[in-house]
Amino acid sequence: MNNLDKLIQHFEEFPGIGGRQARRFAFHILTLNNSDTQEISELILNLRTSVAECQSCRRFFSRSGGTAVLCSICSDPNRDHTKLMVVERDSDIVAIERSNVYEGLYFVLGGTIPLLNSKDTNSLRSGGLKTVVESRITEGLSELILAFAVNPDGENTGRFVESLLKDYIAEHSITVSQLGRGLSTGSELEYADPETIKNALLNRH
Ligand SMILES: [Zn+2]
Repeated sequence: MNNLDKLIQHFEEFPGIGGRQARRFAFHILTLNNSDTQEISELILNLRTSVAECQSCRRFFSRSGGTAVLCSICSDPNRDHTKLMVVERDSDIVAIERSNVYEGLYFVLGGTIPLLNSKDTNSLRSGGLKTVVESRITEGLSELILAFAVNPDGENTGRFVESLLKDYIAEHSITVSQLGRGLSTGSELEYADPETIKNALLNRH
């Protein structure tokens, strides 16, 4: 396999990218000048050292050369530590933050559980979520907000998280809520506008 084919194969593994788009990416790179090509290569090479996974919420954050282990949200003393929102992926946090209405903390589960294959929970950070909930309980955790996509997989994932944490929820009287009306069926948080998210959060139930 030549270099071009190898690159196309890597792009094909990107989320949401098919063979045709992967080829377009690779051919686009061939049209770039040397300095752009160099910059992209270096950005990719250095990404692992400049970006870290937050040890609490598990989202990726830029630590700009430092040695921080917590992201700006988790290390912010003004955030409401009694609320924990569980989301599927990093980009959901970006969408929620844009709505400017939530001041609690987050946890990135890392995926959802397909309704048709509900035994497949290996790719999720179930253990990490339990650990974070345990430590948040010592800080007065009182509400767990399940913010998954409004579709069967999202609902299935919500049920999974509730049953995973049922002992903590019962023992510490933690309220479990879901995003309310406003998010249309099938919609993913990442693509919802800030106003819609704001309403869904204010109407959580
Ligand atoms: Zn964090």
